[in-house]
Amino acid sequence: MSWLDRVRAIEELEDAELDGALIGRLQAGGRALERPLRFSTPTFKDYTSSELKGCAKNSFPAFSITAGGCALMCDHCQAKILEPMIPATSPEMLEQKVRDLVMLQNLQGFLLSGGSNRRNEIAYERYYPVVEKLKREFPHLKIAIHSALLDETRAKRMEAAGVDTAMMDVIGARETIRDVYKLDRPVDDFERTLAALTATDMEIVPHIVIGLHYGEILGEANALDICARHGIHALVLVVIMPFYAKPGSFVTPSSAAVGTIFAEARERLPDQQVLLGCARPPGMARREIDAYAVMAGLDGIAFPADGMVAVAEAIGRPFHQEHACCSIKIGGEAAQGASCAA
Ligand code: SF4
Repeated sequence: MSWLDRVRAIEELEDAELDGALIGRLQAGGRALERPLRFSTPTFKDYTSSELKGCAKNSFPAFSITAGGCALMCDHCQAKILEPMIPATSPEMLEQKVRDLVMLQNLQGFLLSGGSNRRNEIAYERYYPVVEKLKREFPHLKIAIHSALLDETRAKRMEAAGVDTAMMDVIGARETIRDVYKLDRPVDDFERTLAALTATDMEIVPHIVIGLHYGEILGEANALDICARHGIHALVLVVIMPFYAKPGSFVTPSSAAVGTIFAEARERLPDQQVLLGCARPPGMARREIDAYAVMAGLDGIAFPADGMVAVAEAIGRPFHQEHACCSIKIGGEAAQGASCAA
């Protein structure tokens, strides 16, 4: 029986609009069956699906060094990603909050983020002495950072402070950088940043936001090529969430268009971890997108939609569940890899 027929028989996908040609391509490619699948249910968000249970602990918070402020105000985000983060607008504030959380909540690590300046850079430098000190005192803490754009010197400084994981969004189209980010920098600056980061010993986990150009597919293939050219630890794919954006300015890309990018990602990065991150549209679109991710052979899915265990079983793909972020592992436990485009 074809994968399309098997997946169509799953109750949760009864009303799904599935692309038979794409599923045929994924089945013929056969990559999914070569790789185990991880359903990630990180600890920073309540989660229960009809098939999997979440974990209630919150051991990996995100801090914003600019609180809710950002000079770029990109059209897809308008700094909204910063809102739920804990403000840490001075190094002293970060240190105190981390110490409190280590004492009270068994903190396992944290994400350092913030709004960027008009050049899409984030000035973390004055925080590094505190990061170094915290890392020395609490070596178990895993520290992740949204790097934004930087050069080799700043990447080395980040590494020297003890940052474990650096994440950045890779954009493959000049038009997207210009129109969505209102930023006058070339695609090459994103690749140069990735090169500078991968020249360090930090774990580098770039993100690609599918549909970043107002919901259109534009620079994704180029962004995949950029990621494939560097020694990354893993690639996280997320899908544009139009409800963060200026009303009416974005459309949701079709599930099949997203699934096609999954297939291309798997083909271009055959040996690296390619993961589906938290951000993607809700409802039936999410079920369709996740089903394509299972069939394309992505290595992990964060907060899988209902029916995904059934999809994995239907095509005979082995899977397991981890209370872990798709991007960062803390021993057997988990951390946050929320995607900020900064
Ligand atoms: S994606 Fe980053 S740089 Fe753009 S508005 Fe959001 S926080 Fe600011």
